[in-house]
Amino acid sequence: MGFSARYVCFEGCEGESYSLDEVVYRCSNGGLLDVEHDLDALRERSPAQWKALFDERSGARTWPDRSGVWGKREWVLPEIADEHILTLGEGSSHLLPMPRYGRSLGLDHLWIKQCGHSHTGSFKDLGMTVLVSQVNRMRALGKPIVAVGCASTGDTSAAVSAYCALAEIPSVVFLPADKISVAQLVQPIANGATVLSLDTDFDGCMRLIQEVVDAYPIYLANSMNSLRLEGQKTVAIEIAQQLGWEAPEWVVVPGGNLGNVYALGKGFTMMKELGVIDRLPRLVVAQASHANPLYQAYKNGWDQYAPVTAKKTLASAIQIGDPVSIHRAIRALREHDGVVEEASEQELMDACARADRHGLFTCPHTGVALAALEKLVQRQVIGKDERVVVVSTAHGLKFTDSKVAYHSRTLDGIGSHHANPPIPLPADVDRVVAELQKAFAI
Ligand SMILES: *Cc1c(COP(=O)(O)O)cnc(C)c1O
Repeated sequence: MGFSARYVCFEGCEGESYSLDEVVYRCSNGGLLDVEHDLDALRERSPAQWKALFDERSGARTWPDRSGVWGKREWVLPEIADEHILTLGEGSSHLLPMPRYGRSLGLDHLWIKQCGHSHTGSFKDLGMTVLVSQVNRMRALGKPIVAVGCASTGDTSAAVSAYCALAEIPSVVFLPADKISVAQLVQPIANGATVLSLDTDFDGCMRLIQEVVDAYPIYLANSMNSLRLEGQKTVAIEIAQQLGWEAPEWVVVPGGNLGNVYALGKGFTMMKELGVIDRLPRLVVAQASHANPLYQAYKNGWDQYAPVTAKKTLASAIQIGDPVSIHRAIRALREHDGVVEEASEQELMDACARADRHGLFTCPHTGVALAALEKLVQRQVIGKDERVVVVSTAHGLKFTDSKVAYHSRTLDGIGSHHANPPIPLPADVDRVVAELQKAFAI
């Protein structure tokens, strides 16, 4: 069947559209692009047929069907051939029910969508499998793309370099010198990316790479690229699928450059338009108060968006003052009766610690989402019996520095209210037993 998709202008420029096989990032008016699917063609299959197909592929043993992204490929990149798809087993992440933790927050139905349990440890894999697979196809079609590049400090560069290594496509990462930890650097280094450590900040890296890709055949993987959002959209489809093809009442997600909230909204809207779900969830974007331009715009009734200067936050992946996808996010929030909430450094670290005590191991960005959730439940914006899904964006093991510092009580200006530091003791059984008697009834 002839399923297809193309780029159109996000701002709705009439008649402006491009093939997905073209190297193009922006509309001629400078605005962002959006991937638009031929919904009439997709409607040739009934909602029941789509659900049955996606359910069957979720249980498949073969690739790429087994991938959470490629199991839904007609809705993602309908024209790509299987031989061009590059998968590292992304998607199909667990939707974990957390009843005890939920009750501790005052909620009867809480799930954590574990998007950080992915090949490179963050949800960025979901978008990058799509972008790099499409680059692979374009190279096979003879497009002169020599490498894929991005300016990023953390999760995006890890995903770019892993998928490019899988594809044997060279990759290049522009990083600000001395602002990146070894832990953040090690994934692109290990995957063989060309890592440029530049004497500037992140914005300087972004300006440089944009100049380079304008003049040389390097494909830009930064988040204005709308291909990535098509992969990230599958998180919404998975959530509905995992709830028996229903939307929850609420989905909470941390936001920085704000592509992810748009992708989630797009996924839910597409399911509704195709009759796969009958109602949209409400969306919550949670921002760190040190980098909260969307929160400010929300408070001002959406009309007065202004970039802010982001201050340092432990939620480093969302330390962004002028998000690329601000208007995409506002559109998604308007369509989904959305709410924006913020969390201070203290609140986000405490929320992480409380969640970890219930068996999770949360990254600081997920802590921002959980802290926002706590506030919205307290204010009764979110009701006790409503179903809530929190999108966890990265694996906590990628962000152990701040967690160790919290439990060691060495975070500047942050009280470690739930610290659980190790207890130093001599190798003496009486002292050990005395300590254990303090801890448990023995
Ligand atoms: C990229 C990222 C985010 C922010 O996603 P946006 O689409 O930029 O809003 C949040 N958490 C983690 C761990 C990330 O890597």
